[in-house]
Amino acid sequence: MRGRSRVWLSLVLACLAVLVLAHLAVPQDQPAPDAIASAVAGGADAGNSDTWEFVGPLSAFEQTHTLRANESIYVALKRCGVADASIAELTRVLARVFDTRSRCRPGDRFSVTMDVDRAVQCFHYMPEETPERQFLVERDTDGLRARVLDLPLETSTCVVEFQIEDNLANAVTAAGETDALTDIIADDIFGSVIDFTRNPRQGDRLSVVVEKLTQDGVFVRYGRVLLARYQGQTVHRTAVRFEGEAGRAAYYDEQGRSLTRQFMLYALPYRGITSRFNLRRLHPVLRCVRPHLGTDYAAAAGTPVWATAHGLVVEAGWMGGLGKAVVIRHPNGYLTRYGHLSTILVRKGQQVQQKQIIGRVGATGLATGPHLHYEIIANGRHLNPETINKGMAGEQLAASAMPAFRSTCAALLAMLRERELGDGAVAADPESSHLSPAE
Ligand SMILES: [Zn+2]
Repeated sequence: MRGRSRVWLSLVLACLAVLVLAHLAVPQDQPAPDAIASAVAGGADAGNSDTWEFVGPLSAFEQTHTLRANESIYVALKRCGVADASIAELTRVLARVFDTRSRCRPGDRFSVTMDVDRAVQCFHYMPEETPERQFLVERDTDGLRARVLDLPLETSTCVVEFQIEDNLANAVTAAGETDALTDIIADDIFGSVIDFTRNPRQGDRLSVVVEKLTQDGVFVRYGRVLLARYQGQTVHRTAVRFEGEAGRAAYYDEQGRSLTRQFMLYALPYRGITSRFNLRRLHPVLRCVRPHLGTDYAAAAGTPVWATAHGLVVEAGWMGGLGKAVVIRHPNGYLTRYGHLSTILVRKGQQVQQKQIIGRVGATGLATGPHLHYEIIANGRHLNPETINKGMAGEQLAASAMPAFRSTCAALLAMLRERELGDGAVAADPESSHLSPAE
């Protein structure tokens, strides 16, 4: 007994000494000192936030770790010095509540508390994108036990104003918002009716009523965008989110006309387009098939490419100079063609929805750099994809839906007016404010 307790004491003391000196030296009694050294060193240069600290009794210590690109939980735990047998036990128990293979993302954080045998006592996993669903593993008398922590997010409805200097993405980030909001505005809401690569002018204004989801006051992600209004020199559009009878939400202008069109203006995200080349005038670098009857969009390899309209995939595979390509047949005699893809994500005979991702940008076939070759063909004739919706009217909401739509619209516009009068960033819930619309 005496021998055992002496061993125990010396282990505790050794562990203590190692931890006290953790800032100065790499722990020496850990199984993989190189890995730990790289984890500690990596914390500084990779913006990682690994920390070491004592928790409660001196026999236990806690580490927090942020997952890096291509780092599995297994590798991360090994870097933290957890014993192999304990890693195996932890991952087995964790798998009951959390698919660690498919759901772990770089940026996710965890904390792990170990005893002197480097066995896990407590493990807490916090996904960066979905912090409302965390995972906690704790040791009790029967071993490790895992459970889900449901931590609901708070929703607040905000009015945000943007002033265009050069382009939309810069205006959004200059206002302290993230690129995710640019994507929603440019691709999801106005993707058929405003060409954000051409239309914006300095001084244009954009107003948005958007839900922000937070946890403990920290922004997590955007919820629904309830209204977006673009007031520009070349284009002026208001988009109001409204749920029709089928419960499906869509965007409508102030008269209740849909902003959806058969075709989106672009087959790739607004932020992904670095430049476009109309190769009627052959471009010296991105030369592809000749005679050239489409439009080429330079974009980074791997940028998603989506179907601009719903339809049926009639070709998906290698097509000569177009390399890996997809052809989709749409209602009303239209065909669209997407070339030079690095990856094809659909099959011939498959139905696709508008904005469904069908592949990724590449440089296959006759292409000297990554770009998307895109064509719209109507009854054998090539059309300009960027003007395809000119003069096209959106579908009108049913008369029966108009009273509810008008009230939603009035409440949201009232929030914009309140903001313009200087009533602060966080406005009231539209559900309550439409009980007393201004005017
Ligand atoms: Zn081309």
